[in-house]
Amino acid sequence: MTTGREADPREHLGMRRFVLALSLFCAAAQAQQALAPDVLLVPGGFEAGRQPDGNSLLLKGSEGWLLIDSGRHRAHTEAALKAAGGQVRAVLNTHWHLDHLGGNAWLRAQQPGLEVWASPAVAQALAADGWLDRYRRQLAEALPTAPPEQAAVMRVDQDLLGQAAALKPDHEVKTAAALTVAGRPLQVGVETAVSGGDLWVLDKASGTLAAGDLVTLPVPFMDTACPPAWREALARLSAQPFQRLVPGHGPVMSRADFERAWRL
Ligand SMILES: [Zn+2]
Repeated sequence: MTTGREADPREHLGMRRFVLALSLFCAAAQAQQALAPDVLLVPGGFEAGRQPDGNSLLLKGSEGWLLIDSGRHRAHTEAALKAAGGQVRAVLNTHWHLDHLGGNAWLRAQQPGLEVWASPAVAQALAADGWLDRYRRQLAEALPTAPPEQAAVMRVDQDLLGQAAALKPDHEVKTAAALTVAGRPLQVGVETAVSGGDLWVLDKASGTLAAGDLVTLPVPFMDTACPPAWREALARLSAQPFQRLVPGHGPVMSRADFERAWRL
C-alpha cells in the first residue's frame, strides 16, 4: 500500500542537474558571459552574509546598451556598466525587488539621460505606505539596535531607499507590448505572480527570454505550492519562441531545461 505522493524520478534527476549547475554558477559569479552576439549576461550572486543580486542581461541595440535589471550592490552594477563599455542607454527592471532595481540610482548618476522602464508596481511599492516604503521605515527603526554585521547589510538597502525617486521608471509598461528600447526590438509581457507587476522580456533577435523572478533557482515544483497566477505566467513564457531563458537567479536554461524543471 502506498500513502501520499510517489516520488517522481524525473524530479530527482532534475534537481541534481540544477544543484550542479548552481554550484558552477556560484563559482563563476560576477564574470560576464556572452550568450549570443550583442547579448551579455552579468550573473547575480548569493554571497554568505549579504543579500543577493539578481542576474542582469545586456542587449545592444542600434542606440546603445539596454540593461535588464540593475542589481542591488554597487559591485554588481559596476560590473554591468563595465561589461557595456561604460555606456548604458536604458534600463528595464523586471520587478521592484531591490536585487533587481537597486542599481538604478547609481546608474542614473553615471549616465545622464538614462531611460528606465518598469511596471507601475515599482512606483506603488515606493509610494507612501507601499511595500518598500514600509520596509524603509522598518529599517530605520531596527538599525539602532541591530548587531554590526546585520546593520551593514541593512544599510545597503537603507541607502538605496533613500534615493527612491531615482529608482522609479521614466516609462511604465502596463500591458504586454512589442517595444523597441535602445533600438532593440523586444516583446515584453506583464504578469502579477511575484510582485504584482512582473515584466518578462523576449529579445527577438537572439531568442533570449529574461524571466525575472518568475523563474529562479532553487526550482519550486509546480504541483506543490504554486499559485494559479504563477502557473499561467509560466505557460505564457513557455509559449514564447525562446532558445535560452535567463532566470532571475541562477544559471541560464535551455528550453528543455526550463520545461523539465517546471514539468510543463
Ligand atoms: Zn530576485
